[in-house]
Amino acid sequence: MKSVQHFVNGARVADTSGRSGEIFNPATGEKSGTVALASEAEVDKAVKSALAAAPGWAATPPIRRARVIWKFKELVEARKDDIAKLIVAEHGKVHSDALGSIQRGLEVVEFACGIPHLLRGDYTEQVGSAVDSFSMRQPLGVCAGITPFNFPAMVPMWMFPLSLACGNTFILKPSERDPSAPLMLAELMSEAGAPEGVMNVINGDKVAVDAILHHPGVAAISFVGSTPIAEYVYSTGCANGKRVQALGGAKNHMVVMPDADLDMATDALISAAYGSAGERCMAVSVAVAVGDKAADALVGAMKPKIERIKVGPGSDPQAEMGPLVTKQHFDKVRGYIDLGVQEGAKLVVDGRGLKLQGYEGGYYVGPSLFDRVTPEMRIYKEEIFGPVLSVVRAKDYEQAVKLVNDHEYGNGTAIFTRDGDAARDFTSRINIGMVGVNVPIPVPVAYHSFGGWKRSLFGDHGTHGMEGVRFYTRLKTVTSRWPTGIRSGVDLSFPMMG
Ligand code: NAD
Repeated sequence: MKSVQHFVNGARVADTSGRSGEIFNPATGEKSGTVALASEAEVDKAVKSALAAAPGWAATPPIRRARVIWKFKELVEARKDDIAKLIVAEHGKVHSDALGSIQRGLEVVEFACGIPHLLRGDYTEQVGSAVDSFSMRQPLGVCAGITPFNFPAMVPMWMFPLSLACGNTFILKPSERDPSAPLMLAELMSEAGAPEGVMNVINGDKVAVDAILHHPGVAAISFVGSTPIAEYVYSTGCANGKRVQALGGAKNHMVVMPDADLDMATDALISAAYGSAGERCMAVSVAVAVGDKAADALVGAMKPKIERIKVGPGSDPQAEMGPLVTKQHFDKVRGYIDLGVQEGAKLVVDGRGLKLQGYEGGYYVGPSLFDRVTPEMRIYKEEIFGPVLSVVRAKDYEQAVKLVNDHEYGNGTAIFTRDGDAARDFTSRINIGMVGVNVPIPVPVAYHSFGGWKRSLFGDHGTHGMEGVRFYTRLKTVTSRWPTGIRSGVDLSFPMMG
């Protein structure tokens, strides 16, 4: 049985807290290992190691930092199948899906390799007589990343490669549900040439998170996870003087207009709702059908296709959808399906009874579809984070827009239509951070930035792209004059350059 420890100062270190959590294989329900849960003292050791490494790493020329990141990219590419297997074994998603998420993470790594260019400053000659001005972006020091269970490789790769490229050192606190893949990534970063203390992993739970939030040596925190914890991390981190970006939960609506290509919309909805068993922050969990005719057609077209989705262990190449991550999450998602029935929604496809021969202990919930869901229902308001799609019927386009805008979450949304006017109006008026037009999961590419609005993001910066560079650096502006410049003698009037 494996025992997942920490990675500090360039080496795996055994835990001394005496506390550990359990890791399960979601496909079978069997316990597969334990994970160390760090104490405050262990977080302190990691921060001290990152602090000690920070000046040397910050002074390393960006091109040399980029070479380390490049080498890391090559190592991840070479080992991506092994990383995917770790994800499948602990998260449960199917292997191809795990590989896809690693690839999207690698794209951020590729973006980070451009750091010499990304950090280029501005220079203005002669802002005053013989006075020049230039600005540069400098690293913050020690940054921390706190990540969720659903993307154990991709979400960490949104954070640490770019943060390191910017010249910071890093402490990653991954989800305790599936900690093996992030630990391997840290080891690969070390193998790629990151000096000791530059990249660290502390495993743990709330104790470790709180220690990070209160440690005076941590300058900035990137968080991705559920909204209540994102809000807590944001407010506590800010109160302790840290820069914080905290990405939270979601309830992503896909609006299907009466003129949409029905085949395209049906396939897009099914893929976006049930991929990764709905455990994606950009999963579509609400389909807003505009008009009863569109709704009937959509539900009618989806039902047989949903019933054909092959659910199985993530290691089965035939499986399209795997189990949920833990027994607790399995119970929660099933509980929401029960609740939807009690609330009066029409359960068109029921995934609750699913049993797989040979995998009876696994956390499988089959893809489920509700029709006639209304905005007052809890299954509409709350994030379920499982393979449950709700169809809400809107009488017209305006009502559909209002639904999306009124929801507390603002991560992603999409409109499916052939009408350019409607699409343009939607992208302009919708109160959501990431918007798709005939694209169901509009996750921005690495050189754009990822981030929601409303209660899906606390803070001012999205992740990766130029938002990421800005988050992991601070601006310094230098104004310089040399002795050969014009001298004005003592002058107490307001300083002017011109
Ligand atoms: P979570 O909030 O339970 O955990 C996230 C991290 O916070 C973990 O590292 C965990 O150890 C830590 N944590 C948990 N409880 C804590 C507490 N009480 N105090 C301090 N730290 C705590 O989230 P999860 O269940 O791992 O992940 C699923 C959630 O993440 C969903 O809500 C999903 O929408 C969200 N998510 C959002 C995005 C995004 O980009 N907006 C991306 C992926 C996942």
